[in-house]
Amino acid sequence: MTNIIPISDIRKVAGKTLPKAQYIPGRPVVDQLGRALRDLRISITDKCNFRCSYCMPREQFGSDHVFLPQSQILSFEEITRMARLFAQLGVNKLRITGGEPLLRKEMTSLIAMLAQIRDLEDKPLDIALTTNGTLLQRLAVPLREAGLERITVSLDALDPDLFQQMSDTKIHIDQVLAGIEAAREAGIDTIKVNMVVKKGVNEHQVVPMAEYFRHSGHILRFIEFMDVGVTNHWDMTDVVSGAQILQLLQSKFELEPVHANYPGEVAKRWRYKDGGGEVGLITSVTHAFCGDCTRLRMSPEGKLFTCLFADQGYDLRALLRSSVSDHEIAGALAGIWTGRADRYSELRDQLIGTREKIEMSYIGG
Ligand code: SAM
Ligand code: SF4
Ligand code: SF4
Repeated sequence: MTNIIPISDIRKVAGKTLPKAQYIPGRPVVDQLGRALRDLRISITDKCNFRCSYCMPREQFGSDHVFLPQSQILSFEEITRMARLFAQLGVNKLRITGGEPLLRKEMTSLIAMLAQIRDLEDKPLDIALTTNGTLLQRLAVPLREAGLERITVSLDALDPDLFQQMSDTKIHIDQVLAGIEAAREAGIDTIKVNMVVKKGVNEHQVVPMAEYFRHSGHILRFIEFMDVGVTNHWDMTDVVSGAQILQLLQSKFELEPVHANYPGEVAKRWRYKDGGGEVGLITSVTHAFCGDCTRLRMSPEGKLFTCLFADQGYDLRALLRSSVSDHEIAGALAGIWTGRADRYSELRDQLIGTREKIEMSYIGG
């Protein structure tokens, strides 16, 4: 069959030995645990204007930290080429992340380029962005005009001092709240707010945050503090479990569970019985959801990671900057996915401390 592409000849370019796989265009690819490929998270910069202690603690990401030079970062054309190939392999959701993605110059034009893939491939493709919200006031309208439909803003506290302490920033919380409002006014359909909860730091903000976002139409999601990377001094004793967060919420509000929107949805959904909207719980530590994980992550320099907790990635930039054809790259991508067997969160107890995990600000949240 002419449309079966062997990947053996480009194995070396990808920097790793790829499993033998055949790529048949249009047919979904499935990994070793039967999981389909659906989501691609694209980190477009490793830089950030915050230094959240759970992600980029200043002692490691201070003034002497060396960020990636421009020449090593994928161009928008390279990102779009990869995204289109992934769409051909079954990806139907792209999430732009970082670092802080809105720091990357002209990134609204990247959204516009990605949005064109929908027409080129004639298939639905969700485009989402995760941001700390500090630059949203200025960018919400251009982002919406470029085709952005979903936005997730990270916000860990409503208390202005605690917000600044957790983000290790002098930026005032009002700038983020105004950014969220600007996204709403711009007509971005789905707005979610992510709150990482750390024991002894901000669990007392769970209820005030819920109060604030109830009836707003935005979905507040509580995230368990995770052991991503190696710099954030993660310890299980700092984790507030999803069950504990739910208890805090239920001490104040009447909630009922809601079915997942689709298989593989990361957050467990709950809704206020009085119609105040929804909240989500992301319990990667206490209730792993690897069984449904349909995600790949691409770093700013084009390394592809099959798990958030991976220690190695595949060098897609080498493929992109070689003379390899789109068909051959698609074959390599199919091979990578077909060989995937990651389930770190399910095996955390056995695997913790056994690998040099990549930082989340690089791999993309
Ligand atoms: N800078 C953007 C932001 O903060 O939204 C995008 C990148 S950030 C790495 C993506 C998401 O990862 C954020 O919602 C952040 O709160 C979350 N995150 C980072 N480190 C985390 C950790 N150790 N545990 C849980 N979530 C974390
Ligand atoms: Fe920056 Fe986002 Fe990491 Fe905070 S979580 S340091 S805003 S990349
Ligand atoms: Fe997916 Fe890895 Fe997270 Fe499991 S630990 S849900 S495989 S990214």
